[in-house]
Parts: sequence; structure tokens; C-alpha cells
Amino acid sequence: MKEFSEERLEKLLDNVLKPSRYTGGEMNAVMKPFDQAEITFAFCFPDSYEVGMSHLGIKILYDIINRQPWALCERVFTPWPDMADAMRREELPLFSLESRTPLRQFDIVGFTLQYEMCYTNILEMLDLADIPLFSKDRTEGPIIMAGGPCAYNPEPLAPFVDVFQIGDGEEMMVEVIECMRACKQAGKTRLETLRALAKIEGVYVPAFYEATYHEDGTLAAFTPTDPAAPAIVRRRVLLNLDSAAYPSAFVVPYTEAIHDRIVLEIMRGCTKGCRFCQAGMLYRPVRERSVETLLRQAEELENATGYEEISLSSLSSGDYTHLTELVCALTERYAEKKVSVSLPSMRLDSIVKQSLEEAQKVRKSGLTLAPEAGTQRLRDVINKGVTEDDLIRAVTDAFESGWSTVKLYFMIGLPTETDEDLQGIGHLAQDVISAYFSVPRNVRAKGLRITCSASTFVPKPFTPFQWQPQDTLPQIKEKQARLGEILHQVKGINFNWHEPELSMLEACFSRGDRRMADVLYAAWKNGCRMDSWSEFMNFEGWLQAFDQCGIDPAFYANRPRGEKELLPWDFIDAGVTRAFLWREWQRAQRAEVTPDCRLGCQGCGLRRFEGVCAE
Ligand code: SF4
Repeated sequence: MKEFSEERLEKLLDNVLKPSRYTGGEMNAVMKPFDQAEITFAFCFPDSYEVGMSHLGIKILYDIINRQPWALCERVFTPWPDMADAMRREELPLFSLESRTPLRQFDIVGFTLQYEMCYTNILEMLDLADIPLFSKDRTEGPIIMAGGPCAYNPEPLAPFVDVFQIGDGEEMMVEVIECMRACKQAGKTRLETLRALAKIEGVYVPAFYEATYHEDGTLAAFTPTDPAAPAIVRRRVLLNLDSAAYPSAFVVPYTEAIHDRIVLEIMRGCTKGCRFCQAGMLYRPVRERSVETLLRQAEELENATGYEEISLSSLSSGDYTHLTELVCALTERYAEKKVSVSLPSMRLDSIVKQSLEEAQKVRKSGLTLAPEAGTQRLRDVINKGVTEDDLIRAVTDAFESGWSTVKLYFMIGLPTETDEDLQGIGHLAQDVISAYFSVPRNVRAKGLRITCSASTFVPKPFTPFQWQPQDTLPQIKEKQARLGEILHQVKGINFNWHEPELSMLEACFSRGDRRMADVLYAAWKNGCRMDSWSEFMNFEGWLQAFDQCGIDPAFYANRPRGEKELLPWDFIDAGVTRAFLWREWQRAQRAEVTPDCRLGCQGCGLRRFEGVCAE
């Protein structure tokens, strides 16, 4: 690989799609002299610029690292395939957006893992950067780190990543880079540095562990091989969200990002306990920001960006204690400036009509609701805890407040699902239409648009369904066709679904062990990359990869696990205990609902962590 050159980059940019993805220089980008930083961190988002720039985590950590006077953080996104090919042709190494420095010159190259189907992009980025893909082949150059929700089962990436950070980034990032700085100053070797990092709570260094397997392919043991490595890696938990760092400016992209707006993270965590939801289990407990803090952050960000939309972000915005007060205050302050407030991720039972009406004063956007399942029985199995009455009340409120576009999200393939549950989706959709027509003509907005979206259930680690099989591809396809038939009979419904092949691969990686790394490498070699983009999804390449590695995807996706089976992620203590998750699975089979633990602790295990959920 040749050295980086501005001239060759300029030449490439003339011939690729959306060159502004690669130019940097956006408003609020942090420009620090590269050579003066004691620690340099390339923050890599393994997807396109547009997707990465919409992500809140990167904004937070970019800000936190750059706040340290001695550290520098720059952004890197996966080049679109046309650019990646051109870079290979021209031998132009992957570079950061701010100083256009090749990745291999950084001290740390850190990836955020938001979605399993971005894993091939990690290999693609390392390869484009001319960094050896496997940790064992790296004797010099940057330490490769990874964090984010998928890091809770790091094993499919274990051979490629040197250091995983498990838990809230705000809580541990500075400690990690300070440790790197001290090691660098002391002239420590790579191995000594990894050992020093492994001693930080929440850090996992895969090279210091060994996995052995039974003859049937299940995990037999997972043991540390280095004295610096703990047997159990405990997640780091940020206790006080209100006082945690938050950027006062966002980098404003030239090209349109998917979510190009001010994002206020109003709370983190959700204690409703939906049994399919990994985020709900991993981000416990609920931590809220105060209205005062959020108003200050809104003001700073509005001044710094000029955005016209404020989005309230959390797993379940409707459960935020001060939602009405916050929405009213924001709409009052920003209505004149035509800045709108949007409320994604609403749960049905907590929609506050007044807030909806306040939000609608400015601009009408679609309302998204996620009943997830078509019958009460199945909603109880998954502990969704909402009733059809909740849904109808919520949409009626919304229709009365001027909404006419509603998206309903469902999942198919949930444990214990029957045909009755699929039919229930049709009934629910019909009832939503009836609710619209029950609102007087002079009150409701014109142009009712209802979309039903069906994704495929993916069993995830650290959920009560972590032991359950995913439906096979033929089963999923049959159910999708059946649901299509049912919804076809309901006039005025748009129906769309996720590609089941993608969900199958997601299931393999989310519960995969180290052997899935071989499949990942083979798939990337077969040309797989940008898998989450339907135009690039190469399922054939994936099937071939499984075949080449002698691995049956059904072993990971469609096999039920026993209560006693050692799971690849069992060495990580995420807070919720196996005993709690198993108990929840038992309750699920009896369709027993477990109440929100804000109303009373359900003993999930998090209280073992100091200062968390103290009574
Ligand atoms: S320890 Fe209790 S209160 Fe805390 S998150 Fe778990 S169930 Fe909820």
C-alpha cells in the first residue's frame, strides 16, 4: 500500500458517489494538531457516513475524548463500495476525516458495534487501512478496540479485536485512554499494554482466553490464560446520566444523514422487561436526565447547529417521568423558530395526549407504535405489557391530535407463536382503521396511511429468549406469506417485512462463538460487505462461507439451548443474572407478565453492582 496523498484522493473523489462522505471539514468537526496529541483515537463506524453520522454514541465519545487536552479523536466511516474499490486500485490507505491521517498511524482504532451485520465492514476497514486483520498478526501499529451493544457477545470478533470495552462508554473511555497514554509514556510493549488494559474493569482482551468445545460442538470451557485476565468481565455502569458529559455541538454533515437533527438523550435504560429486547436488559437500570439539563443541552445544540428538529431519544420516551413538562417547554421555546419536536420509541401505554398535542403545534410527523405481537396472549409471552385498548386509545388520541400516518411494528417467529397470532395482526390493523373513522371528519387529518412492518425475531444474548431457536428460513417465509395474505384482506394497509436471510445471519452472530469468526472472514473473502444494504447483500457468499468452514448455520440460529449449556457470553457479567433470565423464560411459557421494576424490584441481579438500584 502506498502512502496517503491528497492529490490521489482528489482524483478519486471526482469519480465516486457522494464525495462529501470523504472530505470532512464539516461545521463543528474538531480539528487538533495530530502530531501534538499524546493519544490518537480513530473512531470507526462500520457503516456508511450517513448512518454513522446519525449515531448518538459516536457524538458522545468523540466529544469526551476530544475534551482531554492530550488526546485526539477523529472519525472514520466505511467507504461505500465504489470508493473502497477505487482506494484499492489507487492503493490509497483508509484515512480519518479530520486530519486525513491513515488509520495505521493512530494509537487506537476503535469500532462501535451497533449491529452484527456490520461485522464484514470491520474487516473491510482494517484491510483498506492496511492493518493485519487478525490480532495475532499485529506486532505493531494501533490497538484495535470495540464497544457498543454487540460487544456483550464479543466472541465472533475475538480473533480480530485486541480490546473490548463492555458497558457505558462515558464510564470507562477516559480510563482506557489514560492507561494507553501511561503505557506509551513508559515505553511498554504491546503485550504489557494489553495486560494493563485487561486490569481495567469492563475490559476484555480475547487473546488472554481459551475456548474448548464438547464433541457435539457446544462450549465446554472458557478460561483465562493470562494472570492479568479476570475470569468474569463485569460491565461498567454509568450511575448518573444527568451529570454525564454530553456534546454541546454536533458535527453537521454536508450530505444528508439519516437522522440529521438535534438528539436529546432523555434517559437511558428501560425496565419494562420486554423479553425479546436485549437493549432493555443490557441498559438497566433506568437513568434520567433532568428537564433543566435537557433544556440547556437543547439550547447549546440549537445555537451550534441551526437544526430544525429536536428528537427525544431513549428506549421508551413515553416512560420518561417529565415528558409533558419537557415537550411543553421545548415547543414553547422553539415554536417560533419552527423547530419541531419528535418523539420516537413511544410505548403505547404511556402516550401523553397533552404532549402529542403540544408537539403537533409545529410539524406533523408519522407516529410509530410497536405492539410487536397480534394477540394478548403473545404480548404477555413477550412481556410487552400493552393491551389492544392501549393501542386503540393511543391511535385515537393521535388521530384526534392531527396525525394520519401510523406505522405499526410487529415481529414474527416469536416463541410460542401460532397462526392465531398472525391473524391477530390483521384484526389489530383493522381496529386502527376503525379508530381513525371514529374520529369526526372535521377533527381528523386527511389521508390515512397505515404501514404494518414485520421483522423476524432474532433471539439475543442476555434476554430470557437466549436459549430459544429462531424459526428456520422456510418457516419464516411461510409466515411472511401468510401475513401478507391476511393483511391483503384489510383495505388500506401497506405491508413490508425485513429480509429473513439477514435475520438468520444476525441470529448466527448474535449468539455465535469464536468459530463464527472463521465464517466472517470467509464471507468477507467471498466479497461480502455492507450486508445491511439490500443492494449489496450477498447471501450466496455467506452460504458458501459456512460451507467452506464446515459450519452449519442451524447450530447457531435454529438450535434450542439447554438450561445448563455454557453460553459463549456467560463470562460477561452484564448485570442481569442467568437465574433471572431463566425464570423469565419460565414465566413467558405460562404467559405471565412481569411488572415494570420501577414499581418494585424484580431481582434481575443488577443490585449486586455497587451503587446501582440502591433502595
Ligand atoms: S435490580 Fe431490580 S430495580 Fe434494578 S433493574 Fe433489576 S429488577 Fe429493576
